[in-house]
Amino acid sequence: MALVHENEEVRSHEDMVGAFALLYHHLFSFIKPMALKCVVDLGIPDAIHRRGCAATVSCIAADTGVHATRIPDLRCLMKLLTTSGLFGAATTADGEVVYTLTAASSLVVGPRGLSNIVRFVAGPVSVTPFLDMPAWLRTAPAPDAPKSPFELTHGRSRWDPANADDDTMNDAAFAESQLLIEAVLSDHGDVFRGLTSLVDVGGGHGSFAKAVATAFPNIKCAVMDLPHVVADAPIADGSVQFVAGNMFESIPPADAVLLKYVLHCWGEDDCVKILRRCKDAIPARDAGGKVIITEMVLGSGPRDRNVAETEEMHSLFLTCISGVGREEHEWKKIFSDAGFSDYKITPVMGPISVIEVYP
Ligand code: SAH
Repeated sequence: MALVHENEEVRSHEDMVGAFALLYHHLFSFIKPMALKCVVDLGIPDAIHRRGCAATVSCIAADTGVHATRIPDLRCLMKLLTTSGLFGAATTADGEVVYTLTAASSLVVGPRGLSNIVRFVAGPVSVTPFLDMPAWLRTAPAPDAPKSPFELTHGRSRWDPANADDDTMNDAAFAESQLLIEAVLSDHGDVFRGLTSLVDVGGGHGSFAKAVATAFPNIKCAVMDLPHVVADAPIADGSVQFVAGNMFESIPPADAVLLKYVLHCWGEDDCVKILRRCKDAIPARDAGGKVIITEMVLGSGPRDRNVAETEEMHSLFLTCISGVGREEHEWKKIFSDAGFSDYKITPVMGPISVIEVYP
C-alpha cells in the first residue's frame, strides 16, 4: 500500500510504520533516565546486590519500601529497564521473575558508584533548562544576557559558587572522578610514570590528585582551585598540597599540569589563555614537561550509533550548562594556538580520553 503525503512524496506503508516507531521511540526516550533515576532513588540496584545479585520483585519491594499494592507498577518499571539492558531477568520454575544486575547497573551500586551522576543528570536542576531550549536559542548574546540555558532557567551559572551548596553536583563529579581514576591508573598508569611533581588545576577537593599521590608516592601532588573551593576542601592529610589561586593568572610550577573536566567549561579563547599559563608552569618536553587533560574527544570512540548518540547527547548537555564538547581538530587548534608542539589522545573510559599535550 502507498500513502500520498501532503508534500507529494510517496511513502510505503512500511516506511510510515518505521517513521512512526522512530518518532515514538524519540518521544518516549525521556522515560529511560526517569526510570533509571527512580530505581536509583529507591536503592533497587543496592537491594539486588545485597540479595546476592538476584531478587524477585516482591523481595525488591520489601527491601526498598515499595508499597505492596504498587508491585504491578514496580514490575512495569523493572520490565522497561530489563528490556533496555540495565537489569537481567530470568523466570524460575514456579513462574517468578528474578531480576539480576548487569554490568551497567553494577556501576550504580554502592556509595562510590555512579548513582550521584544519575541523580544529577536526570534531576530537575539539569532537566528543566532543556525545557527553556527554544527560548535560549532565540536569545541574542549580550553582556547581561544569560550565557547558557542553565543560566536562563536558574538565574545563575552552572559554575556559580552558590552551586557549591548543591550536593548532587559535587557528589556527581566525585563519583565519576573515582571511576576515571581507577580506569586511568589501572590501564594507563604510564601517563604519570617518570613525573616528580603534578599540579591538578581546577582539581576541586583533590580526589584525583590524592589517588595519583597514593598510586605514585614519588610524585609531589598539589591541587589548585579558586579560594572558596580550597577553603572548603576536606582537612588535608599531607599527601596533597592545596593552593588557592586563579589559573588565568598563574599556575604553580610542576613537571605536569592536570586539567580534568576544566577546559570543557570554557570557550576557545579562555582555553588558550589557561593552556598558556600551564605552559609557563612546566619544563620543556625533553625534561618531562606536559599537560594531562581528561575530556571527551567527540568522534574518537568506536563508531556505532549508540556511541555517536551518547557523545552528541553529552555534548548537548554541556551546551546546556555552558560547556563545550570538542572534536579532535578543535582540540588541536587550541593546543597549537597556545604554543604546544604535539599531543597524544588515549581513550580511557567510554567517550572520555586522556590527552597528553607537549610543549
Ligand atoms: N577537576 C574537577 C573539577 C572540574 S569542575 C573534576 O574533575 O571533578 C571545574 C573546576 O575549575 C572547579 O573546581 C572550579 O572551581 C575550578 N575553577 C574555575 N575557575 C577557576 C580559576 N579561575 N582558577 C582555578 N580553578 C578554577
